[in-house]
Amino acid sequence: MWSLTVCSGWLLAALSLCMLAGFFSNDRQLQNKQMKNLRRCAVAPIILVLAGVVCAQNQTPLIPAGKTLEIAEHIYVIPDQRVNLVPNIGVIVGRDGVLVIDTGMGPKNAETVLGEVKKITSERIAYLTVTHFHPEHGMGAQAFPPGTTIIYSMAQKTELMAKGKDYISMFKGFSPEIAELLKPVRIIMPNVTFAEEAEVNLGDVSARLLHWGPAHTLGDEFVFLPEKRVLFGGDVVVNRFFPIMPDGDANGRNWIKMLERMEKLNPAIVVPGHGEVGDAVLIAKMREYLEFVRDRVEQMKSQGSTLADVEKRLEPEIRAKYKDWGNPNWIKNAIDNFYNTSAK
Ligand SMILES: [Zn+2]
Repeated sequence: MWSLTVCSGWLLAALSLCMLAGFFSNDRQLQNKQMKNLRRCAVAPIILVLAGVVCAQNQTPLIPAGKTLEIAEHIYVIPDQRVNLVPNIGVIVGRDGVLVIDTGMGPKNAETVLGEVKKITSERIAYLTVTHFHPEHGMGAQAFPPGTTIIYSMAQKTELMAKGKDYISMFKGFSPEIAELLKPVRIIMPNVTFAEEAEVNLGDVSARLLHWGPAHTLGDEFVFLPEKRVLFGGDVVVNRFFPIMPDGDANGRNWIKMLERMEKLNPAIVVPGHGEVGDAVLIAKMREYLEFVRDRVEQMKSQGSTLADVEKRLEPEIRAKYKDWGNPNWIKNAIDNFYNTSAK
C-alpha cells in the first residue's frame, strides 16, 4: 500500500513538473521554447524509473557506520552495500589532511561519513569533492566543517545551479524517509571549480580530479590516485547495475569515449559509484554494455525499426544477457539515448 501511494505520488509529481514547464501548452511558439527547456521536463523519466526502483527496494538510503574498508594505503571506502541511492564514499587520508569523495544524501548521512573519518584519522578534513550533482552524492555538503575546501567541476556547478532544486523536490517524492533526509538540505556552492582537471595534494598522496565531458550527467567527475592506481568512477562506472541515463543531458556516446580514456589510466582498483569495489574489468564491462546497446540500436534503426520496436525487441534481449545486473528499468533510457543520437 505504501509503495502504491508513493508511486502514484511520483507519477503526479512528474506530470505536474512537465505541466509547470509548459510542456503541454497549446501555444506553438511557447511549445517550441519549452522544447528547448525539455531538459527540465526530461526529469520525468528519472522520476518514473527511480520511483519504480525505490518502490521495489523500499529501504532507507543510509550510509552505513562501522563498515569502512581500507582498499589501499591512504585510501578508504564506505561501501554502499548495494542499497539504492547510497553511493560508495571515498576517504583519502594524507599527511596534510583528508579528501572526502561524495557525502551521501542529506546532512544526516554526511554526519555518518564525518564519524567514519574520525574513526580512521585525527587529521582534519581539508577537501570535499563530489562526483556529480545528484542528491545522494553531494547534498550533505553543509555538514562538513567550516574551512573545508569544496571542489566541483565547473560543469557540475552549472548543472547543480540549473537542476539542483528540482532534483531535491523529485527525490523527496520517493518516500517519506527520503523526504526527511532531504528536508534540511541547503545547496552548497564550491569554493573552487576546475574545467578538466585539478590536483589535490595531501602531502604524501595526491589525487587528480577529472572531468571529461557529459556521460551520466553534464558534470561527471571522477578521481584518480596515480601512486596507488585507484580510480573513483562516480556513476560513470557502476558494478552489476545498469548505467543510468536519467534525462536528456545524459550522453551515451561520450560515455563510451570516456570509459576508453579511463581504461588508459590503467587503474588497479576501481571504486564504482554504486556496487562492489573491483578492478579495471568494471570499466571494460560498462563500455562493452554501452557499445552493445549502441550497435544493436543502430543495426535495428538502419533496418527501419521505430524506437518503440527497438525497445520492445531489445530490452528482453539485454535483460537475458545481463541477468545479474540490478535496476533493469534503466535499459530503456539507454536504448532511447542511442536511438535519438544515431545519425543513421
Ligand atoms: Zn547519479
